[in-house]
Amino acid sequence: MVEVINPATEEVIEHIDSATAEDTDAAIARAKAAFPGWRDVEPSDRARLLRRLAEALDAEREKLVRLESQNVGKPIASAQGEIDMVIETFGYYAGAPERLLGDTIPVSGGVNITFREPLGVVGLIVPWNFPLQIASWKMAPALAAGNTFVLKPAEVTPLTALEFERIARDAGIPEGVVNVVVGPGSQVGQRLAEHPDVAKVAFTGSTEVGRKIMAGAAETIKRVTLELGGKSASLVFADADLEAAAAAAPAAVFDNAGQDCCARSRILVQRSVFDDFLDLLQPAVEDFRVGDPMSEETEMGPLISADHREKVASFVPEDAPVAIQGSAPDGPGFWYPPTVLAPVSNDDRAAREEIFGPVVAVIPFEDEEEAIRLANDTIYGLSGSIWTTSGARALRVARRIETGVISINSNTSVRVQTPFGGMKQSGVGRELGPHALDYYTEIKNVYLATEEG
Ligand code: NDP
Repeated sequence: MVEVINPATEEVIEHIDSATAEDTDAAIARAKAAFPGWRDVEPSDRARLLRRLAEALDAEREKLVRLESQNVGKPIASAQGEIDMVIETFGYYAGAPERLLGDTIPVSGGVNITFREPLGVVGLIVPWNFPLQIASWKMAPALAAGNTFVLKPAEVTPLTALEFERIARDAGIPEGVVNVVVGPGSQVGQRLAEHPDVAKVAFTGSTEVGRKIMAGAAETIKRVTLELGGKSASLVFADADLEAAAAAAPAAVFDNAGQDCCARSRILVQRSVFDDFLDLLQPAVEDFRVGDPMSEETEMGPLISADHREKVASFVPEDAPVAIQGSAPDGPGFWYPPTVLAPVSNDDRAAREEIFGPVVAVIPFEDEEEAIRLANDTIYGLSGSIWTTSGARALRVARRIETGVISINSNTSVRVQTPFGGMKQSGVGRELGPHALDYYTEIKNVYLATEEG
């Protein structure tokens, strides 16, 4: 039995039965049985069903928002944005079934025709930080391409995934196409990675578990897409609009209490404006509104658990260079205040490991070469920002940063229409945009001989 807790109050909000590896096998069998039927649904009918699903999610928006906010402790405004993106994601991929086109390639003696075919049963394993949003990035393209799936939410945040399963059924998605299994990663997740009837696993979570999934998938040569950790940098050059960069910096790292793989948890600042930047950053951090997630004003809620708070706190020992610290409520809830460490060396633990909490390391650099070197001096490569008023510099630096996504004078990381994913140990593959469909289809190449005899 899983006790589902509200991290802002520490109250138990739900009890859920915990699934085993055998329950996972049963869900995989249901998905396997449903696959041929779903694969063969006419593209226009599949598109219609996905549009209907997007509408059904929209009709349940308020309930999903409340559940996500309570289960993760996230501010209600953030939960609204996330559920809106879930709805948008299903709306976007509802356009895909009718646009999964192949090529016609004339060759000697005939012609080759390619088809984009679904993989079969896919296993989707997601974390607790953006539960339904991250799941939707996988579920929507998987369904659009004609796959069936088994989704494993994190055990601590299963509520919106279970609601989704019900909403999909009510919207007319055929039985067995959508399956949600709540249980521990070591059993349910590992089983999905190893099961011979699962054609692919799409995972978001820690780099450590990503490695295990890749190893588990190797036995049956499963396709894997992995969206893993990050240690992304914001590069602030002396020619930047410093006020804009400082005003945007807190949300870039404290959003979702820093429990965000795209968090810009390193801020690299050119030494000539280092002190000016910190002066501007101070009020922005101190004014960041931490508190009751149900208030529309709140910008940051608690961390997910007591254990996780302990891990985050370990990055701020007694002698840590705490330059700025915001506030956090007393009393129940896994609170931790927004914290700025400065100056930090890129070799320090706070600059090297993913903290996954509201703690940011500010690191000085001399010139563009050093900024690029420091930004790339990490095992990760997921996201990042460049703050400068020089367009030429912005593009020059963007090309040299080893990262899957980077934004200029902005903290944007994800949009439904554009590819998202990591380089280096931040992952394999891309989600969102048209590119995601490549990871849920195989290309079949058919040769038709047109010469007689
Ligand atoms: P995990 O990577 O352990 O969890 C992510 C998902 O994987 C959960 O559903 C989990 O299940 C499942 N899982 C765990 N072990 C296995 C396994 N052996 N095989 C298959 N699936 C498994 O992340 P944590 O929740 O433990 O967080 C630890 C750290 O990971 C964070 O502090 C952060 O640094 C990083 N992280 C990064 C995320 C990102 O978005 N890139 C998201 C979450 C965490 P369950 O938890 O139910 O057992």
